Amino acid sequence: MQKIVFDHVTKYFGDTKAVNDAHLTIREGEFFTLLGPSGCGKTTLLRTIAGFYRQEEGDIYFGERKINDIPTHERNIGMVFQNYAIFPHMTVFENVAYGLKARKVNKKETEQRVMEALEMVQLQHLRDRVPSDMSGGQQQRIALARAIVIRPGLLLMDEPLSNLDAKLRIKMRSDIRMLQKELNITTIYVTHDQEEALAVSDRIAVMSEGKIQQIAPPEDIYAYPANQFVANFIGTSNFIEAHCHGGMDSSGLAKIDLLGASYQLPLAKSYEGKVVMSLRPERVRLETAGHGLSLIPGTIENVTYLGEKVSYLVRLQNGPVIDVQEHAVEPHQLRKVKQAVQVNLQLEKSTMFDKGGKEVVYRATY
Ligand code: ATP
Repeated sequence: MQKIVFDHVTKYFGDTKAVNDAHLTIREGEFFTLLGPSGCGKTTLLRTIAGFYRQEEGDIYFGERKINDIPTHERNIGMVFQNYAIFPHMTVFENVAYGLKARKVNKKETEQRVMEALEMVQLQHLRDRVPSDMSGGQQQRIALARAIVIRPGLLLMDEPLSNLDAKLRIKMRSDIRMLQKELNITTIYVTHDQEEALAVSDRIAVMSEGKIQQIAPPEDIYAYPANQFVANFIGTSNFIEAHCHGGMDSSGLAKIDLLGASYQLPLAKSYEGKVVMSLRPERVRLETAGHGLSLIPGTIENVTYLGEKVSYLVRLQNGPVIDVQEHAVEPHQLRKVKQAVQVNLQLEKSTMFDKGGKEVVYRATY
């Protein structure tokens, strides 16, 4: 168990900065996820940690030790990849024992450690089978056992669940999470699946175009996105344009024009001009009757029933179409297409960004 430090790490491919000035510390025992769309640089960053790539700028430390020039096999890392990378014709036992053999661990200790690792991934009863006739989930468990059997100081996982079906992915991700906590092993996990990242991580780094956009625990990334990219990439956001009238009054409130009405909010900083409001679908209430300053008339355009929740697309009068979610809806409460509604936007739970979407102008209050 050790902390990992990136000190202004940059990795180029030609003129492309695949990783652009990564500067962060991953804590001892932390489950840390690199999350972002395809091509954002997460695999490249992971590969520089493993030593498959050498960064052009900056340093990487394991604990206090600078590892820039330490070869991969001396970094004491366990790795799990999307394609399992296990040997199809060796038995489960032989696959898991492979790393110990390379480390010249004796037979008795190998037997004991392999069985221990197989028990952790619940495969002890299949030790003599060959992976080629096992399921994807079982093969990924072999890969996991093989990674942890060497007792690595760091576990790296690159999209380990991508090849599994949806139900198994959910089961495996909680198994991985529980095992990681039990072993207390520092883990860096790469995924483009935001739900997976929210479900397993202690903290998430959201990346875009080689740059880390925000580092925070899942609930903070969701509730307080640092910029418009993060608000858009994590969960669903309704983006609505508004206008901020600069200075705040004596009670710290600034005037905001939105969809033809005026509101007052305490801004993070004084701001004059166009802003973009990000409002989560569950932060919009639908009322069937009533009028009020904060209610905006709208019409339901589409209904998507998802079991535990319902998603409505609602066209606002003189405004955009927004996504609204209601939870635990009983069958008779389902709203219908073309139904008129009054929309209550919970603006205090929104985040507002400057025109370029880079800076937070208003931060949600809970
Ligand atoms: P994905 O989820 O698709 O794997 P990623 O976020 O892991 O994407 P990377 O694979 O790290 O992204 O790629 C980051 C950038 O570096 C991309 O622009 C990619 O085209 C480029 N890149 C990655 N590997 C190489 C390489 N070996 N040679 C040249 N360019 C590369």
